[in-house]
Amino acid sequence: MIFIRKLIQTLFFLNLILLSSCTNSNVKNVKPNIIVFLVDDMGWQDTSVPFHKEVSTFNKRYHTPAMEKLASEGKMFTQAYACSVCSPTRVSFLTGMNAAKHRVTNWTLKKNQSPDAPQDILDLPQWNVNGISPLPENDNTIYATPLPQLLNNAGYFTIHCGKAHFGAIGTPGENPLNLGFDINIAGHAAGAPGSYYSEKHFGNNPKNPDSPWGVPGLEKYYDKHIYLNEALTLEAISAMDSSLKAKKPFFLYMAHYAVHSPIQEDPRFFDKYVKDSLNIIEARYASMVESMDKSLGDLMLYLDKNNLTDNTIILFMSDNGGLSAVARGGTPHTHNKPLSSGKGSAHEGGIREPMIVKWPGTVKPGTRNSNYLIIEDFFPSILEMAGIQDYQTVQHIDGISFVPLLNDTGKPGPDRKLFWHFPNYWGPVGPGIGASSSIRKGDWKLIYYHADRHFELFNLGIDIGESNNLAENNPDKLKELATDLGNYLRDSKAQMPSYKNTKKPVPYPDKVLQL
Ligand code: CA
Repeated sequence: MIFIRKLIQTLFFLNLILLSSCTNSNVKNVKPNIIVFLVDDMGWQDTSVPFHKEVSTFNKRYHTPAMEKLASEGKMFTQAYACSVCSPTRVSFLTGMNAAKHRVTNWTLKKNQSPDAPQDILDLPQWNVNGISPLPENDNTIYATPLPQLLNNAGYFTIHCGKAHFGAIGTPGENPLNLGFDINIAGHAAGAPGSYYSEKHFGNNPKNPDSPWGVPGLEKYYDKHIYLNEALTLEAISAMDSSLKAKKPFFLYMAHYAVHSPIQEDPRFFDKYVKDSLNIIEARYASMVESMDKSLGDLMLYLDKNNLTDNTIILFMSDNGGLSAVARGGTPHTHNKPLSSGKGSAHEGGIREPMIVKWPGTVKPGTRNSNYLIIEDFFPSILEMAGIQDYQTVQHIDGISFVPLLNDTGKPGPDRKLFWHFPNYWGPVGPGIGASSSIRKGDWKLIYYHADRHFELFNLGIDIGESNNLAENNPDKLKELATDLGNYLRDSKAQMPSYKNTKKPVPYPDKVLQL
């Protein structure tokens, strides 16, 4: 009898141990779902969430309740940076590389053709006009191991939804399915939609079949009176359903075409902004911002309904600053103030982005972080969040994980340096727009303009609007940052333009000070 009782006790404890080890094993194996919610051309102030110290007039203009909820449940980053135009940011995100290294320094569209605007002084370098390639033998591309491929290899169901803009037409990089995504919804080479309206078939016009701007793959929504953002959201939800059926964690790259031009109102939200006495362009834009926010809210609602909220990380980001430059006589639809300038500029308005991260159980809700970071940091950060440690890439990763900023276990040293390199001409004019290279180090930022070799030195700690150029008043800081920037460009083998009149390359910035 005693023997039998001891046997039962032993079996019971063995069973407990087995159950315990199974449970631990299961916990370890449950990877978080990850949503990257990337907005296009959204400015730092284009939200009711205040990223500056004070609530601005723009924060009062816009209505973004889902972003407010996300910020209350996550951490806002007030100094998060991207590149100043689309493709460089997106390629840095996919590769973890700085633009000086991947050389996709301007936006891409047509194979072997540069979209650079014509200008008088500089011949521009042979940058990678065809974008990213998962294969080594494509000319004018950066051959790299894309982030979604690594996630896919680790068991993630990888969903691309919206704007891709990774590679030129007719190259492998134009199709997200070649970059490690299981599903591609509406992504291709172009960086803007022909139209946001289903009545316009999202820009697909049979009379103009060669136009690159028609959004692909959304035929079932044609003429259904549905705005592009809504169609993409419904498709993303359907794809997440597929991942649940496959019993896999998902990585959803939700890259809205909004709020890029064409500036076309979402009729669901337009009227109230007209009643708020905004001009017609501003009201259209504000409705597009709220429409984007509605998508974020719908995705969060889907997570709640499917009991996924606690195991899903959401990263909110924009790919460059708000478009504040306009043709002569036009009305800008956004401003980025108190930041200077906007899309295409090396000034803060072109590169500082609204960023929020929600990570239940890790990120303390309702917090802010003022450490600076840059778009290539997303690559190692997301892999760390996914628990993927042993991965190999053909490219060197320049980004640094910001996970220590999320769980408050560390931060970059005060001397961390960020770099931008744009040996290109985007087109519009405005402060900080033109071929340039820049460095951020502590509160200081130096911009070196290639055409006339002049410098702008700003102390962002006291001059967020970059109104006071200290290059002449602070020669020591100018020399320090020009040396750091010159060394980085040299080490990176960064492509410099050359002068049309002398055919000589633009010198690195530290060399200019020695002339
Ligand atoms: Ca953009």
